[in-house]
Amino acid sequence: MSLLEVTGLNKAFGDNHVLRGIDLTVPTGSVTVLIGPSGSGKTTVLRSLNALEIPDAGTVRIGDVSVDFTAKPDRRQITKLRAQSGMVFQSHNLFPHLSVLRNVMEGPVVVQRRPVAEVRSEALELLRRVGLSEKAEQYPHQLSGGQQQRVGIARALAIKPRLMLFDEPTSALDPELVGEVLTVMKDLAADGWTMVVVTHEMRFARQVADQVLFLDGGVVAERGTPAEVLDHPREERTQRFLHRLT
Ligand code: ADP
Repeated sequence: MSLLEVTGLNKAFGDNHVLRGIDLTVPTGSVTVLIGPSGSGKTTVLRSLNALEIPDAGTVRIGDVSVDFTAKPDRRQITKLRAQSGMVFQSHNLFPHLSVLRNVMEGPVVVQRRPVAEVRSEALELLRRVGLSEKAEQYPHQLSGGQQQRVGIARALAIKPRLMLFDEPTSALDPELVGEVLTVMKDLAADGWTMVVVTHEMRFARQVADQVLFLDGGVVAERGTPAEVLDHPREERTQRFLHRLT
């Protein structure tokens, strides 16, 4: 059974037609990695999955929540879709004036209006999970970039999403901090989280992805297992892209 199903996603910014009919199926408990050149539409796909961008056409279904963007969905439907996924951004977007613990608690307490004591113990557990128990009372500026990203992951998990979305979560980090973030992501995958990840980390894709999609010019130019797409690409534009990375 697929957790996520996307059909016919289209999006234009003015006369820049960025997504030209994206279809995507993500089975429950699997990891999908989106790769492709800068400007190919990867981030726009990801942001469309939780309606940070509103596509012009197409449908997005996460679990039993289905939104038909072609039919111009109302606010209530969009809010419902948004609640299904947790997003980790390129830079963490933590609240600077809140402690690490309060950052993780913010979504469940303020948006979901859940009881503070319960949320607090869950948030502490999430911080333990990302290896940051001892940082709970510190503030974002006291953490390294890698630690901040791990708080960002804990914060996204705190709303209990069905699906985790990662938008180049390591690309703003110093090289020595990339590994600790990828390790947390690998742990989540091993725990059975369903994930969609935009990344240039090909080693991560090889080790963790169940499927890889190569986007180019707003279409999925090639898709398959990591072995198919990364090691034996059929399309010339995939070959050229991978060649440029090495
Ligand atoms: P990628 O993630 O593959 O680099 P993006 O999805 O970020 O690609 O961008 C695809 C295209 O959409 C680019 O040409 C980019 O300039 C444009 N774009 C993305 N977001 C916006 C926006 N909010 N307003 C206008 N153009 C945008």
